[in-house]
Amino acid sequence: MAMKVLFVSSEVFPLIKTGGLADVSGSLPNALQKLGVDIRVLMPGYPSVLAQLNKLKTIAPIKHLPYIGQAELLTGNIAGTDTQVYVIKAAQLYERDGGPYSDAIGDEWQDNPIRFGVLSKVAAILASPNSPVPDWQPQIVHCNDWQTGLAPAYMKLTERSTAKSIISLHNMAFQGCYPPHWVTTLGLPSSGFSIEGYEYHGQLSFLKAGVFYADAISTVSPRYAKEIQTAAFGFGLEGLLSKRGDEIKGILNGIEPEEWNPENDIHLPANYHAGNISGKALIKQSLQSQLGLTINADAPLLGVVSRLTYQKGLDMLLPNLQKLLDAGCQFALLGGGEKDLERAFQEIADKNPGKASVTIGYNEPLSHKIMAGCDMFIMPSRFEPCGLNQMYGLAYGTPPIVNATGGLADSVVDTNAAHLENNTANGFVMVEASADGLIACILRALEIFRHQPAIWSQIVHNGMSQDLSWNHSAKEYLAMYQDMIH
Ligand code: ADP
Repeated sequence: MAMKVLFVSSEVFPLIKTGGLADVSGSLPNALQKLGVDIRVLMPGYPSVLAQLNKLKTIAPIKHLPYIGQAELLTGNIAGTDTQVYVIKAAQLYERDGGPYSDAIGDEWQDNPIRFGVLSKVAAILASPNSPVPDWQPQIVHCNDWQTGLAPAYMKLTERSTAKSIISLHNMAFQGCYPPHWVTTLGLPSSGFSIEGYEYHGQLSFLKAGVFYADAISTVSPRYAKEIQTAAFGFGLEGLLSKRGDEIKGILNGIEPEEWNPENDIHLPANYHAGNISGKALIKQSLQSQLGLTINADAPLLGVVSRLTYQKGLDMLLPNLQKLLDAGCQFALLGGGEKDLERAFQEIADKNPGKASVTIGYNEPLSHKIMAGCDMFIMPSRFEPCGLNQMYGLAYGTPPIVNATGGLADSVVDTNAAHLENNTANGFVMVEASADGLIACILRALEIFRHQPAIWSQIVHNGMSQDLSWNHSAKEYLAMYQDMIH
């Protein structure tokens, strides 16, 4: 009999996405299904989810939920896949304009504890004797990040679930910490509100609950599994994490080949593959034209697609960006986030018409075109649990320039004599996380791009011919599931 897994996530591509978690939640369940796992996804019923799912139907009411009492459980399919999705329909929690975590202005929804408390509770109920779907009892509940962190606590403390739980850590920077009165509102026992439980400095921490009560823990890269056990990366949970250090498994994310493959990418004006990348030049030209950049095949075009936050380290680019433009580079940025970063990049674009383009906002098609049309991709993150954009850069022949952290360090191999010799070089890795470190790394890349085309082609080819799909990593998740239930 196939192993039954409930995969719980607050965002799933293409239904709703704010970042890499959605990409993983949209592609890993598919990859596991191909390995024979009976995996189903559980998520909130945001308007875009209800609108996009195929064959949506109501299954049953879910009762005894904290604060709201009752919701409806629906099920449907993601178009073009076999992935079955369970959706919590609770209009007062999820059906509103704005993002999954915050309103249109960017302020967090005040009722996030209840919105994601209910998501966690429903996950635990589906894995309990009180499930409204008694004929499908998951053996494993796979939680993702703080939004699902209370599920392992509910499973152990209130729902008498015999299923095992795993929490995958995609980003420790977001913890879901709320005032203590939420413990009672969310129907959690007060006994768990202690250091040995979900208390974190006097607050209720969703993420700590997950880390404390889950039967297994994974991170989205091997390097990040080690980093989060240190004060610099653990966001205060390093002590608890290092107690379970030997158990934490780091599994590098894969990318979805249907979605991120230059050979069949529907967002591109031309397609290309490792054997023939001539289409890339056409895309560069079309991108330059679309963004108002001077059409010039030789100008090195540097790309960024990113949330604009401290984590992503793009402030380190600002002090030297003008110099790069003056030296003949072009720059294309797509992203949004902190207002002062948005403003600083916008000012540079305003001062440099034809040379720099800044698009503030979220734009899926443009993100693909930047990835394909640029010559190099800049991602100097201060920390990066896995990072998908550098992998998209590899797949699209756009060598990434990255800081040596987390999944960036696990996926990008620096261009140096040894790595050229053994044919593994696929990008450029900063020696130091600073503006100086970043510009030195970019200049190194530019030197090769301009003067050593054969080596540049080798780096591009190395990245494009790697297997970046889920083939390998999905098997590691499967092995982890098997260990948990045997
Ligand atoms: P994170 O999840 O920390 O934001 P990742 O690199 O893991 O970073 O994943 C980011 C995902 O979000 C990628 O698929 C990237 O293309 C996408 N993305 C980020 N910003 C934008 C944007 N402004 N427009 C379109 N896609 C974006």
